[in-house]
Amino acid sequence: MNTVMKFGGVCTSSGANILRITDIVRKHLERRDKVVLVTSAMAGVTDTLIELINVALSGKDDEVLRLLSILKERHLQVCMEAIGRPELREEAVRELEESIRELQYMAMMISYLKEATPRSRDRILAFGEKMITRIIWRAMLSRGIKAEYFTGGRAGIITDDNFGQATPLMHLCEERLRSALLPLVNEGVVPIVTGFIGQTMSGVETTLGRGGSDYTATIIGAALGFDEVWVWKDVEGIMTADPKIVPNAKPIPKISYEEATELAYFGAKVLHPLALKPLMQKNIPLRVRSFFNLESQGTLVSRDLNNGKIVKAVTMIPKVALITVSGAELYEAPLVVAKVFNTLFDVRANAIMVSQSSSQTNISIVVYSDKLKEIVDRAKAALPENCEVTWEGNVCVVAVVGSGMRGRPGVAAKVFNSVAEKGVNVRMIAQGASELNISMVVRQEDAIKAVQALHSAFISEEHNI
Ligand code: ASP
Ligand code: MG
Repeated sequence: MNTVMKFGGVCTSSGANILRITDIVRKHLERRDKVVLVTSAMAGVTDTLIELINVALSGKDDEVLRLLSILKERHLQVCMEAIGRPELREEAVRELEESIRELQYMAMMISYLKEATPRSRDRILAFGEKMITRIIWRAMLSRGIKAEYFTGGRAGIITDDNFGQATPLMHLCEERLRSALLPLVNEGVVPIVTGFIGQTMSGVETTLGRGGSDYTATIIGAALGFDEVWVWKDVEGIMTADPKIVPNAKPIPKISYEEATELAYFGAKVLHPLALKPLMQKNIPLRVRSFFNLESQGTLVSRDLNNGKIVKAVTMIPKVALITVSGAELYEAPLVVAKVFNTLFDVRANAIMVSQSSSQTNISIVVYSDKLKEIVDRAKAALPENCEVTWEGNVCVVAVVGSGMRGRPGVAAKVFNSVAEKGVNVRMIAQGASELNISMVVRQEDAIKAVQALHSAFISEEHNI
């Protein structure tokens, strides 16, 4: 079976784990399977790079040096543990030192100029993937596996120039990925590609948005027409709920592309929300596999596989904000709605949920809290005076997801009864026309109770609607 395998976070975070990756790859090569590897930064490294930019912006040069030395030490340790052959290890260390130096120059520039453009941010963030991927590449060579290192851009991930959240230009990607990677895999060489990173047509580095290396893997899987894409995680699979909130949450054995996308959108951090798109079009399955339990089948994501479950999972998006615009006269409502959405567009904010009362004098929108102030300020400036803009910061979105809800009466009643029984006050409700989810806004302090109540009503107990 030909697979693209993606390893990130915890799986790339120690020498022992990297050796485990090489063992997994070797096993597949022995069966003459073709493998492309996609790797993402060690756990926490992308966050550290973001912090590096922030401390540089505020001119804290001591902090810059402290963060750089943390990055250097973490990678150095992995080099020592994972690369057996001394000459390869030395090369890796030399390259690592070069990367740290480059990062230091760039941080200095930011600190002098007091600005970091989206383009320079991407260039800095890309180091997380590049540093670790080169190390993994040499660890594979050191163990006698034939492998070739690629940045995402060089492998063929060509994007637009929307830095920070670039969109792959699929028609170009497909052609370039095939010509860069296929000749190698056909000869038993493993291309090892940095996830998360692309480049514009003129060769400037971009990133695909946080968690984007899943997306890299699926773009490659689709372009090469491989059998499956495997995303290795430090969890058992896509879970029925976050096990930290619901201790008896279980891995979901089978789930459809649409359901998994919905889950990703509603806060299950297991996959990038766009990752399944390239696979859906070509009907290529994705498997979420457990890095620490090779026996486990994980979760298979593929074309509709409704196995009779009404609800597959319960998720939550913590710390979002609810904005309500009210007071518009009926005749001016369309203008008000347009202005509200324009404001969201101006600050590039996603509306996570939207609901409008039928009288059209009230529109409520849920957004991520980081953009709240900017949206409210701009909306107030843009809207007619008779409109009132109010907001509430401490809220969460809770959602139940499953295609079994489609056309099935009584599900909503059961959803709201189960949370009402726990005394949870629901602030806003939305259900997409696709009927793949029912989502609601609750106060922060009620969110965990709501998730637990829904999980036990729909998943732990037998459902009998
Ligand atoms: N390293 C990047 C991030 O933390 C990309 C990824 O992990 O997929 O967002
Ligand atoms: Mg990640």
